[in-house]
Amino acid sequence: MVKNRHLAKSISDVGWSIFRHWLEYFAIKYGKLTIPVSPHNTSQNCSNCGKKVVKSLSTITHICPHCGYTEDRDVNAAKNILKKALSTVGQTGSLKLGEFPPLFMLEQSCIGKREL
Ligand SMILES: [Zn+2]
Repeated sequence: MVKNRHLAKSISDVGWSIFRHWLEYFAIKYGKLTIPVSPHNTSQNCSNCGKKVVKSLSTITHICPHCGYTEDRDVNAAKNILKKALSTVGQTGSLKLGEFPPLFMLEQSCIGKREL
C-alpha cells in the first residue's frame, strides 16, 4: 500500500502518529517527558551557529562553512531537536508532567488506575 503514491503519505503519517503515541506512552510509564517538535530543517541547520547548511541525504557528516563546526549528521540533528524542544517547555501545546497521552489513558481504562 505504501507503493501507492496516493496512499503512501497518509499511511506514513499514521505510522508516525502511532509511533509518537507509543513514545509518549512509554515516557509516561517510565517517568520521562516527551515534547513534540517540528522536524523542519533539523538536519540542515548548524547546531552550533544556527545557520543553514544544505546537504543531501547521502551526506553523513555535518561540516559548517560558517563556523567550522563538524559533527555526525544525526548528532547535529539531535542537538537541533533538543534545542527546539527545550525552547517550547512551558508553552501551550507541550505535554506537561501529569498530562497523559491517549494510549496511557486507554491502558488505565482497561486495567484500572494505578499510582505513578
Ligand atoms: Zn555553524
